[in-house]
Amino acid sequence: MRYDVAVVGAGIAGPIIARNLARAGYDVLMIDKKAEIGSPKRCGEGINIGIFEKYDIPYDRRFINREIYGAKLYSPSGYELELRYKEVSGVIIERKVFDKMLAFYAARAGADVWPRTEATGLIRKGGRIAGIRAKHEGEPVEIEADIIVAADGVESMVARWAGINTYAPPHEFDSAYEYEMLIEGYDPDLIHLWFGNEVAPRGYVWVFPKDEDRANVGIGINSDNPQTAKYYLDKWLRENGIPARKLLEINVGAVPVGGFVKELVKDNVLVVGDAARQVNPMHGGGMAEAMEAATIASRWMIKALEEEDMSLLKNYTREWWEKDGKRLEKVLKVRRVTEKLTDEDLDLFIQILSGADAEKIAGGNYGEVIKALLKHPKVLLSPRRIKLLKELL
Ligand SMILES: Cc1cc2nc3c(=O)[nH]c(=O)nc-3n(C[C@H](O)[C@H](O)[C@H](O)COP(=O)(O)OP(=O)(O)OC[C@H]3O[C@@H](n4cnc5c(N)ncnc54)[C@H](O)[C@@H]3O)c2cc1C
Repeated sequence: MRYDVAVVGAGIAGPIIARNLARAGYDVLMIDKKAEIGSPKRCGEGINIGIFEKYDIPYDRRFINREIYGAKLYSPSGYELELRYKEVSGVIIERKVFDKMLAFYAARAGADVWPRTEATGLIRKGGRIAGIRAKHEGEPVEIEADIIVAADGVESMVARWAGINTYAPPHEFDSAYEYEMLIEGYDPDLIHLWFGNEVAPRGYVWVFPKDEDRANVGIGINSDNPQTAKYYLDKWLRENGIPARKLLEINVGAVPVGGFVKELVKDNVLVVGDAARQVNPMHGGGMAEAMEAATIASRWMIKALEEEDMSLLKNYTREWWEKDGKRLEKVLKVRRVTEKLTDEDLDLFIQILSGADAEKIAGGNYGEVIKALLKHPKVLLSPRRIKLLKELL
């Protein structure tokens, strides 16, 4: 069988590309090895409210689990910083429904969608990549396509088969572990984040509420840590007197937090989303980044097909690096600086900010945040802290 475009992976990036290309009138096939698209989830399910309008995704109650009005940050010694907005700032989605609906939008736009279909290799003809080999419900199939999209997530193989260098050292990944569980006592209108070198080295513990008394409770830590993420999460639950006996799901996963893939295109193969490490290295959120990269990739794929010139695909690498790559490299630099913060620094900074102008901080004015910290006597008296904060500016 033959398609204009074959997309491997029906997570976030894949369905956006499949929908956009089908809308433009091209024959698209999207495959996923999962029998049920979206399940199991490997996600805290938190996302910014802005993505719905930006990426033309309906605000559909079927996958909007809970609306969120801000965040509460906790320092190692228990100082708190609450950032509460008047309007909804984010949502906790239900990924099992969300991913499936994204695939549905792609199918509705004209794409073929096959679950339980695993890509196993590439077809090469006359020195070029002519399609993918897959197993569809256990049976081998060959799918020829002009363009192949590797949207196959953090463990991506497709890009590697094509010769794209997706290697990143272990230090550039976080290990994540998460319970969806019954939990009480946390404001269900906010997400909650705990920081500290003993709490979650390099990362944080999160409570993302899905109900008044149900939440995704998870943790991300550096994956080269001698202890596991589960060890730290269970320790945090124990120390906070939260029984972990009413569990609805357990999710484990790796999150790329650096090591962005340099060349996103090789001939007629593009890599996108987690497969290209397009994740925010500060908080590990990758859904919005996957949507943005998928949007840029879609534009260049349409242009390449229109003009029958596959060399145009390379513009996706250029444009992504100019826009998002540069921005994420900056975020990565900031993350590397925050890795040097001691628990005392975290206590002090959160304490200072909780007394600062919350409106300004909640408005996301990053420069104001650093300036507020730099004015404080306990910061001014510490050349090390001044140096760290100046690195963040
Ligand atoms: C525990 C955890 C919590 C997270 N929390 C958040 C959060 O709160 N907010 C946020 O924005 N991000 C979060 N992330 C990150 C987010 O889940 C990813 O960045 C996002 O899913 C990336 O989308 P994607 O389309 O690139 O890949 P995925 O969503 O991983 O989709 C890849 C798809 O490819 C399929 N696939 C793989 N190999 C093959 C193959 N050979 N053949 C066919 N199909 C294949 C897989 O089955 C999968 O469905 C979290 C990650 C983890 C692990």
